[in-house]
Amino acid sequence: MNFFSAIVKFENLHEVRRLCHWGPVIALTVIAVCSSVAILDSIIWYWPLDTTGGSVNFIMLINWTVLILYNYFNAMYMGPGYIPLQWKPDNQQETMYLQFCRICQGYKAPRSHHCRKCNRCVMKMDHHCPWINNCCGHLNHAYFTSFLLLAPLGCIHAAFIFIMTMYTELYDRISFGWSSVKIDMSAVRRVHHPIMPFNVAAFAATLFALGLALGTTIAVGMLFFIQMKVITRNKTSIEAWIEEKAKDRIQYYQTGEEFVFPYDLGGRWENFKQVFTWSGTPEGDGIEWPVNEKCHQYTLTIEQLKQKTDKRVRSVQYRVVEDYNGACCPLGKGLNTFFRTPCTEEPRIKLTKGETIFATRGTKWWMYGDKVLTEEQIRDGVRIRGWFPRRCVEKCHYDSANNSAPEEKKDL
Ligand SMILES: [Zn+2]
Ligand SMILES: [Zn+2]
Repeated sequence: MNFFSAIVKFENLHEVRRLCHWGPVIALTVIAVCSSVAILDSIIWYWPLDTTGGSVNFIMLINWTVLILYNYFNAMYMGPGYIPLQWKPDNQQETMYLQFCRICQGYKAPRSHHCRKCNRCVMKMDHHCPWINNCCGHLNHAYFTSFLLLAPLGCIHAAFIFIMTMYTELYDRISFGWSSVKIDMSAVRRVHHPIMPFNVAAFAATLFALGLALGTTIAVGMLFFIQMKVITRNKTSIEAWIEEKAKDRIQYYQTGEEFVFPYDLGGRWENFKQVFTWSGTPEGDGIEWPVNEKCHQYTLTIEQLKQKTDKRVRSVQYRVVEDYNGACCPLGKGLNTFFRTPCTEEPRIKLTKGETIFATRGTKWWMYGDKVLTEEQIRDGVRIRGWFPRRCVEKCHYDSANNSAPEEKKDL
């Protein structure tokens, strides 16, 4: 109900600003086009309201729209939850395990990260999502993921209506010269007279909406599976990268440590229940987290501090082995690279074989980093930083990485 109270209260009116961004504008337009065309197609042509099936179909279409918008606006307006400004742990001693955020003037609670777009430290930050123009994190994780599930389901229903409307309406008009068998698939087995004919404009609108619905089903459906993986492992995409660097650090220094990711509670269902609850609010306060018995509250933050002091893992050196043209969804780099392009406005960078990159974070299919530049470029203050497909690069082995090799082995 937070969404409704947020609308009623006038002091929250400034929140309307969140809508003024290409992400929500496009997302809401797609929702509006698909649901209104599906509703019109149904009640005028395919499945009129004076039949029981038609009424049920109509109620279901309305239902999808309401549920999708409810979860969408909740994800957007509830937000991820921010760490209070100037936050510090109750026990002063524990500050030694935490990083300090200069912008928020407070310590970064476990699992929180500072988002440059939101300009706040975000609880259990996963990523900043341009489609909701907000971060996806602790408080809105369930709403965000429900939206990612409901949008494709609604789109599949709508796509069915679009296809059937076009098929049944064009059925009488196109003669299938090559086929003697005709199957009548209209929902209403009677001659009805629609208030308007299915004209070219209606056909074009239906075809356009079908394209949007199918595109949304594939793209958003993929995002749903990614988020379900995040939830059932209780490991955000940022944390997956920290874990990767932890393993890298331990292997390099041969410290013999065993890194156990602290927030995975052991079972998928256990992890799922942390995010999805009947009340709609996830478990916990977003600051203190239940952890694996081998770990404690600061296992991950201590690892982050170790990585911060270790120049070598802060960025990992990669060599470009395949050219990349800088496209958001590049063709010819594999389906996963195409579909799992990072959901962010951060730039993509062109790569040419032989270049070197310092990567600072990444996902399974994409990485983010700084290109190593020539001295001339550095003098001019050039900085080339952004995302690129992981398959275009190869990790450098440190013994072979010449001049920029790590200074000396530290004993940790
Ligand atoms: Zn901050
Ligand atoms: Zn953000």
